[in-house]
Amino acid sequence: MAQPMTTTPGVRSHLSSVLAGNAENQRSRCRIHGEFTETLMPNGQWSGCPQCLEDDKAEQRQAEQRDRAGQIRADKLEQLREGAMIPRRFQRRTLQNFETDDHDRKEFALAACQRYVERFDDRLERGGGMVLTGSVGTGKSHLAYGIGNALLDQGYRVMGIDVYELIDLIKERAFSQKGGSEREALKAFVGPLDLLILDEVGAQLGTDWERLMLFKIVNERYKAELPTIIVSNADAAGLTEYLGERIVDRMQEGGGMTLSLDWPSYRRAA
Ligand SMILES: [Zn+2]
Repeated sequence: MAQPMTTTPGVRSHLSSVLAGNAENQRSRCRIHGEFTETLMPNGQWSGCPQCLEDDKAEQRQAEQRDRAGQIRADKLEQLREGAMIPRRFQRRTLQNFETDDHDRKEFALAACQRYVERFDDRLERGGGMVLTGSVGTGKSHLAYGIGNALLDQGYRVMGIDVYELIDLIKERAFSQKGGSEREALKAFVGPLDLLILDEVGAQLGTDWERLMLFKIVNERYKAELPTIIVSNADAAGLTEYLGERIVDRMQEGGGMTLSLDWPSYRRAA
């Protein structure tokens, strides 16, 4: 038999008596598990209730598994957050920190956005989008990104991006990469995203090509029944002129809606 690794002669002699069957045992009683036999260990302590030891180990294993699962989830959320491309200034805009100032219409708009988050599974099922229109400073981007941030926290795949950047990305993917194509570039904004938030739609007079790209993305998402949120400075008529009536109409399907934010700008008010 291999010599056990021991430290002191006392420990060694104790261990050999354990191995020889001469261990010092005693009967004890556990509050939870009742009677048990315990052994005096080399360190001079009694071994304690074997069932309690097992329970402790199982609990520790579970805690480790929970930690690992939590870490995996945190890593995944971090990854989703990076992929979401939400501009820094909107990363902390939430529905909770949207100020309604007891203004009825703001409260209505906020409630509609909260409902959108609560019912997102249904919106995702039916492709229900949202159009948020209003002039500068009404908080429409705050509301849209507030929806996006809430859904990101729930593990949905979200991207929030303004149109300028979207067009840059398409150009980059379509023309700068080897083997890239417009079709492939557009695909990146359809299937892989549960929700696409497009900010600053119609704010600029884009080229026909840019407008066509935007139309195609919204249209492809519509065909795939994937929700899109459009944020625009233009009013409903202006947006219709910019994107076409068909697209704007389609945004209302599947539980979709248009919110016109028509209160005075907080920037002007301040
Ligand atoms: Zn016990």
